[in-house]
Amino acid sequence: MRKLVVLKFGGSSLANPNRIKNVARRVVDYKKQNFDVVTVVSALGDTTDDLISLAVQINSNPSERELDMLLSTGEQISVSLLAMAIHKLGFNAVSLTGAQVGIVTDTHHTRARIVSIDCHRINKHLKNESIVIVAGFQGVTQENEITTLGRGGSDLTALALAKALKANLCEIYTDVDGVFSADPRIVKNAVKLPFIYYEEMLEMASLGAQVMQVRSVEVAKKFNIPFHVRSSFSNNSGTFIAGSISDLNKLKLQVKEAEMMEGALIRGVTLNKNEAKITICDVPDRPGVAAKLFKHLSRVDINVDMIVQNVSHTRQTDISFTLSKNDLPKALKATKTVAKEIGAGEVLSDLEVARVSIVGVGMRSHPGVAAKMFEALAYQKINIEMISTSEISISCIIQRKFADKALRVIHSKFLNRAK
Ligand code: ADP
Ligand code: ASP
Ligand code: MG
Repeated sequence: MRKLVVLKFGGSSLANPNRIKNVARRVVDYKKQNFDVVTVVSALGDTTDDLISLAVQINSNPSERELDMLLSTGEQISVSLLAMAIHKLGFNAVSLTGAQVGIVTDTHHTRARIVSIDCHRINKHLKNESIVIVAGFQGVTQENEITTLGRGGSDLTALALAKALKANLCEIYTDVDGVFSADPRIVKNAVKLPFIYYEEMLEMASLGAQVMQVRSVEVAKKFNIPFHVRSSFSNNSGTFIAGSISDLNKLKLQVKEAEMMEGALIRGVTLNKNEAKITICDVPDRPGVAAKLFKHLSRVDINVDMIVQNVSHTRQTDISFTLSKNDLPKALKATKTVAKEIGAGEVLSDLEVARVSIVGVGMRSHPGVAAKMFEALAYQKINIEMISTSEISISCIIQRKFADKALRVIHSKFLNRAK
């Protein structure tokens, strides 16, 4: 049986012609080792951001259908150029859009979910010894409308294809050496993690570690698809993400339980500078009020992150919650409407907040982790505005101007080996 590999290359790995040629060589290397190769690519460099900024210069509130139409063109440029680069190396390659592959999604433009993938066409090309290059981040509805899968969605295309094609290996190539204990662009002494559990990767991604799209990790976890995050600029081994030590060992990693556990109290520290906070003052303290507010927000499609309601001593209380910065205008409008209906007071918003979080399965069994995090922030005189915890993470909302400093100080408190 031939082995099949799914490779995914992010935008920075394809930012100029030399980088595209570099990717072509890496792809061809797998073909030379007799693998069937499916490669997923993102748009070149910052193309997606550039297209969005072009759109909002034309219309500050563009239609989501037209946005998908526009953004999907970015990946179409990459697939064709990579195919040409591979041809130049003397190998067969064919580029396909999401629609040509048969990646069928639901109808939620800009954040569509994959419903099914038809492997027929890919398998036919693989049989003919062709390298298949698939445009990431896009699909098509049953009515033939082009959709996109949410920012960072090429990761999802790759993992969903790995599942559908029963790939033997899935590699996500990016501009850093793997998943680090913190964003290496902000924390210079962050360390590369040789391996990490799905749930930790999921938590880190949800809490701001941009390196993997959240929904792609959900798919990997749900279908147990171990994958390898590594650099497209070096041959170094990166980070293996899997569900258990035995899965890692199947990948011939020979990880010992002790190694996985050692120092694993906290696996990583993350930052999300994309948050905003809304506070409704003087909310009447009676049953049904919170339900009314959050039902209204969900109806207008607002995802709320953290919620804090103070204890009431006066039959009135304040409710604060955080959400994605981009949703603030829509959420403010909705919150003001509900505040009026329920007889609450002023609605305040703060765009200058950030969320800093620690993540690790080890904290389940270790007391004192929260105190240590709060101490690190107190030491730098950084005020904590809100706190939330999950079984394997603790997050604090702080002022955004302290965000990078907070990340570094918490990282050094937990993860600097020498300390
Ligand atoms: P790509 O274009 O390859 O998809 P992204 O820009 O989406 O790449 O993700 C890679 C970036 O994620 C890195 O350049 C890095 O700055 C950032 N990042 C944030 N947190 C982490 C982390 N914990 N480990 C590695 N990279 C991280
Ligand atoms: N090009 C898309 C984005 O920038 C998808 C991706 O890069 O994965 O979000
Ligand atoms: Mg990405």
